[in-house]
Amino acid sequence: MSHTLRFFRTRCLDCGADFAIPDLGEFLYGQFIWYGERGDAFAYFDAIASPMFEHIRSLLRKAVGYPQSPSSHEIDRFHWVVAGCAEKITDQQLLPRRVCPSCRSRNLSVDDGDPVADRLVEEASYDEFLAKPALEQLSMVAQLWEQSGENRFTSP
Ligand SMILES: [Zn+2]
Repeated sequence: MSHTLRFFRTRCLDCGADFAIPDLGEFLYGQFIWYGERGDAFAYFDAIASPMFEHIRSLLRKAVGYPQSPSSHEIDRFHWVVAGCAEKITDQQLLPRRVCPSCRSRNLSVDDGDPVADRLVEEASYDEFLAKPALEQLSMVAQLWEQSGENRFTSP
């Protein structure tokens, strides 16, 4: 399954690189783009259509005591975990934030003019994750939770 996303011209404020990355435009409830950790891979994720939010939430409750009423910081960390459970693309872990493909800075300026292209982006795949035994799934979400704390993650 793939989804057409609008790509916008983006400039890195640290190294000056000029590139195009997808953006959903205005916030669309339950829709996400996961970005490769090297900045040049993208996956579309529709949390409403997918059972993964609920599945990973329940794993996180068991693994790290994820609360029933999470704070916005905990929700950011939850998104990090859900992105990280998706199948890697070109060997890149997926993250809920964009980075410069040249220097990996997060200091980016997205041009709010017209999109430069419409491109098909694959939907994030969770088949590999769901094929893992339950205990492995638990330890993976626990690891990603830890990683999200180390990265002091904040929204893109
Ligand atoms: Zn850069």
